Amino acid sequence: MPPRTLRSSDDSDSSHSRARAARFGWLTLAAGAALALAPAGAGAQDGGTSFVPKPQPSKIVCVSSCESKTAVRGGGALKVAGTRLAGVSKVIFVGGRGRRDDVEVKVDPASDRAIKLAVPMEAHSGPLMIWAGERAQTKTKSVKIMPPPPPIKSAELSPSSGPADPGAPPLETGTSDTKLFYGERGGVEFKYRVGGSAPVKAQVTLVRQNDGAIVQTWEAPSVAPGQIQSIRWEGDAADGVAPEGRYMFVLSVTDGTGAVARSAGASNPQRDSFDLWHFVFPVRGSHNYGQSGARFGAGRSGHSHQGQDVMSPCGTKLVAARAGTVKFKGYHSAAGNYIVVALDGDDRDQAYMHLAQPSPLSKGDHVYTNQFVGPVGDTGDATACHLHFEFWSAPGWYDGGAPFDPLSDLQAWDAYS
Ligand SMILES: [Zn+2]
Repeated sequence: MPPRTLRSSDDSDSSHSRARAARFGWLTLAAGAALALAPAGAGAQDGGTSFVPKPQPSKIVCVSSCESKTAVRGGGALKVAGTRLAGVSKVIFVGGRGRRDDVEVKVDPASDRAIKLAVPMEAHSGPLMIWAGERAQTKTKSVKIMPPPPPIKSAELSPSSGPADPGAPPLETGTSDTKLFYGERGGVEFKYRVGGSAPVKAQVTLVRQNDGAIVQTWEAPSVAPGQIQSIRWEGDAADGVAPEGRYMFVLSVTDGTGAVARSAGASNPQRDSFDLWHFVFPVRGSHNYGQSGARFGAGRSGHSHQGQDVMSPCGTKLVAARAGTVKFKGYHSAAGNYIVVALDGDDRDQAYMHLAQPSPLSKGDHVYTNQFVGPVGDTGDATACHLHFEFWSAPGWYDGGAPFDPLSDLQAWDAYS
C-alpha cells in the first residue's frame, strides 16, 4: 500500500484532500496522454514499505499555456526537473497560506529526472510540494500561476488534433459560442467531422473544467468519414441545471484498428470551451442604475419600491434574463405594460415593467433566455423610460414569495453578458 498520510502535521483531513484530487480526472487524462509518449515503466515504484528517497527538484519550467518561461496559466503544464523524482506520486499546489487553496495532482513520473505536471484550473501561485512519501517530500520555491485563459471562439470546423495514436484519423471540431446562457434557444452546438476512409466509433464528452466532472457523454457507434456531426447542449445536467462554470467538449474516436484520436480540447483548455451562466443581463443597450430612488426599498407613496430601476432609452430591447413560462401579462396603472416569468429550473419569478408596448408573449408561453420580451418604455407611473425589474423568491410572484433586492444580481449579469 502507498503511504496514506498526506504531508505536514496541520493536514489532518486527508480524506478531504484525496477527494479534491479525484475531481481532477480530466487533468490526469491529459497528463497521461502526454506521458504515454515517453518510455513506459521507467519509473515504476511499487510501494511504501521500501525506502523512498527525498525528491530533489532543481528547476521548474512552463511547457504548455505559458505566460513566460516560469509562469503558467491554469490548465497549462509544468516540467519539474531534478533527481530522485521517480518515486513521486503527487504534487500539491500549495498556493497561499493554509489548506483552503491547496490542489493536488497525481503523477506517475516516467523518469527519475523529470515530472510533467498538469496545472489545475483552480491552482494558485505559490510553492509546490513534491511528494513521494510522508518522510520524502520537498517544497519548491514559489511558482507563478496566472488565471486560466478564456475560451477562444472557433471556426465552424477546423483541424483539431489532440493526443492521438499513429494512423488515427484526423479530426475537425468547432463550438458555436464561448458563452452559453442556460435556457437559450438551441443551446451551444458542437460540430465535428472525422477524416480517413472508414467509419469510426465516436464519443463526445462534456467536461466541466473547474472540477473535471463529466457532465454528459454522447456515443456514436459508427460515424462515416467526411460527414458533419452535430451535438447540442442547453445547460442541463442529470440532476438539474448544471452549475455555472467553464465547460469543454472533447471528441474521442476509435478506428477499426483500435487507433484512438482525441480532439484539441483534450490538451488545450481554450479549445471547444465555453462559460455557462444561469442568467443574461436583460437590457440590451446603454443603461445605468439611476439614483437612490431607483433602488429596491426606496420610498414610494403608500409603499416601498419592490424592484430595481434600470434607466435606458425608450425602445431599448429587453430580453428574458432567464428562460421560463409567462405567468402573467397585463397592464396596471403603476406598472404599465408588464410581464412576469416563472423561471425554468428555479422556483423564483421575475417581472419586467413599464414596457413601451405590450409584450409579444402571452400568458402560458414558454420564453427562452435571451428572447425578446418587449421594448423599454415609460408606461404606467414613470417619469422616464426604464426597466423596473423585480425578482421574487420561491414560490414566486403573489404566490407566497417575496420580492428581494436584485441589484447585485443585475450587476453581476451585466458584467459578463
Ligand atoms: Zn421601479
